This record gives sequence, structure tokens and C-alpha cells, in this order.
Amino acid sequence: MIDLASAPVVDVHCHPWRNDDLLAVDPAGFEDRVTMTGMCLVSSGLADERSARALALLTGSTPLALAMRRRLAEHLGCEPSREEVARARRRALAADPVAYNARLWESANVVGLVYDEGYPQPTISPERFAADSAATVHRVGRIEPWIAELAQRARSFRELEEGFVARLDGEAADPGLVAFKSVIAYRTGLDVQPEAPSAYCEREFELWRASGFVESREHAKTVRDRLLYRTLEAAARHDRPLHIHCGGGDPAIVLGRARPQDLFPLLARHPDQPVVLVHSGWPWLEEGAYVASVLPQVYLDVSIMVPWASLAIDQKLEVVLGVAPPAKVLHGSDEASEPEVIWLAAQLAREALGRVLATAVERAWLSASEALAIGEGVLAGNARRLHGIE
Ligand SMILES: [Zn+2]
Repeated sequence: MIDLASAPVVDVHCHPWRNDDLLAVDPAGFEDRVTMTGMCLVSSGLADERSARALALLTGSTPLALAMRRRLAEHLGCEPSREEVARARRRALAADPVAYNARLWESANVVGLVYDEGYPQPTISPERFAADSAATVHRVGRIEPWIAELAQRARSFRELEEGFVARLDGEAADPGLVAFKSVIAYRTGLDVQPEAPSAYCEREFELWRASGFVESREHAKTVRDRLLYRTLEAAARHDRPLHIHCGGGDPAIVLGRARPQDLFPLLARHPDQPVVLVHSGWPWLEEGAYVASVLPQVYLDVSIMVPWASLAIDQKLEVVLGVAPPAKVLHGSDEASEPEVIWLAAQLAREALGRVLATAVERAWLSASEALAIGEGVLAGNARRLHGIE
């Protein structure tokens, strides 16, 4: 066993929350909301009475939910039952939500959150999130809400593009912004085409606007693809990595164009720009790991896979660490509903890495000290180096 119990954790992909909102949702539904299906139903706005009933049937046999129940019961000092954990959690959260969060980070040694401010909307300010979460937070600026805002006002594509570049530069002036992010896989797909000429973009923008900004490949792709080139330039100009959602997500994803191979031509044309494939391309994780093994500046974050692949986490970490250079693998959770997901993911990642790296030592691939250094890098060091956070 490689002991990573005391290794600090930086979660490189999570989403902000307001404590008021945590208290506003039904405490009894906590376990449902931390399952993959439950989180997706909420984030894609599909939660209704019927899907909630279907979900409740699944939760009781979902390893992730059961691991959460047992560990949280221990943390809170209550019986490990669905009802008791929901009750004890509610009590502790309501008594002092900031202190409740602080105890989570202390117990799992989570030292930093690199968070995607694009979800939920409207954007939660870094000040508010830092105060509510009681964590050290670092913002990642998502370009799609900026584009949506500017497109509404722009009289031409040129105005949109100029406004967008000014916005990118303005956001980069904030030293707290550690990366840019795009979720173009949720809009028009990762198969970004070579840059279209300005006159063509003007026509396409007019058509997109005339459609009422319908989010489809037919209406929006030319404009969105071109603005991603402006984002890559801004990331290079301001020395920031670019996070790109890659792989599956909630049901709003354009799943047919969300694979690492769809993004590959764009990545290959920008070999010097650090790009994080958010979720490592999950469920096409082998493909993402391969891309990171051939392109020197492509990084992988293992969010979604950790924690939701549950029983398969060890096997998948073995693939990622074996195929991609481990110095480019970053721990993340993709928490988007409850702070306990960050807490649980940190523990699961530490333990799974410990087992996987111990096997590598047993098989004489690594020495114990090399294995330990790799584990510490994945949990925090690699993310700190890439994002310039200490
Ligand atoms: Zn996310």
C-alpha cells in the first residue's frame, strides 16, 4: 500500500454553490442527488416527479450512494441509514453551514478547489463562493455565458468577436482566474472546423440570430468554432490553460461529437497550448489517455470517473496512469450538487491511487518513493504547477 493518507488534495473540477441553496432542497433526497443519474437530472433541468421516483429505486443499490452513506455516518457520528444520515447532515448543515464545509475539507485534507463558474447560472462570485465554502477557491472562467450575453447585444459578428476578445482580456486581468473553459461539446460538438472567413461568419451569425439563437450545429457551429480560436489565442496571450469539456456529461451533451478524437485535429494544430481534457474524455478514457500520450500539452482530469465509476475506479486509474504521462493527470470530482461529493472523491482517489500504485511497485515498475511522488502529483502537485497556484 502506498500511503497517501496525509497527501493534500486539490480538486481541479467542481462547481460553486450557495449554502442557502443547499438548505433549500429536500434533505431526504441527498443520496439520490449524489448519484450520477440524480446529479444529471438536476443539472440538465429534467428532474420531475416521475424521474424522482425512478431514481429513488436505483439509489439503494448504487455503490457510490452507499459509500457516501457509510462514510458520512462515520463523519457525523450517526447510524449508517439513509434516514439517519439525512437527518444528521441536515442538522449539522443548518446549525452552521460554513463550519460544516470547513470540517469536510479538514477531514479529507482538501486544500484547494479549482471551480468552473459557468454552472450554476447566474454566476456565483468568487468572494461569495469562498465565504460559503470555507475553502481556498480558484476560478475557471467559462466562455459560453460570455458569448450568450454578447450575442444578444451584438449588431454584427464583428461586434460580437471584438466584444468577446475584450471580455477574454478583461477576465484575464483577474489574477484569481486560473484558466479559461469551454463546453462547446454541449453546444455544437468538439469537431471544431478550420477557422471560417469573416464574411462567412457574418452571414452565419445573422442566421443564428434570426433563429432566436437556436443551439444546433446547423445554426451556431461556424460562430462557436471561430470564437474558440479567439479563446485559444487569449489563453496563449495571458498564459492560462484552457479546460475543454471532453466526453459524456448530462443528457444535454452532443454525445456523437464529444470524443477526444473529435477534438484531436484542433489540439494537434495548437501543440504548445496547455489544454485540460475535462473528464479525460470519459467514457472514452483510453482515447483521452492516448491523446495525452502523443500531444505534450494535453492534460487529463479524472473527474466524473472519480467518484462515479465507483467499483471501476482502480481499473480506470491504471489505464490513465499507464497510458498517459502521470505528471499530466489531475484529480477532480465534477461535484455539481453537494459539497460532500468533493469530500468523498478526495478519499476515494487517495485510496484507489494507493492501491494502483502499490501494484505498480509490486510489479517492479516503480519504487515506493516514485509511486508516492506520482500519487501526490495527481492529487495536488500537477494541478498546482499547471495553474500556478501554491
Ligand atoms: Zn462540471
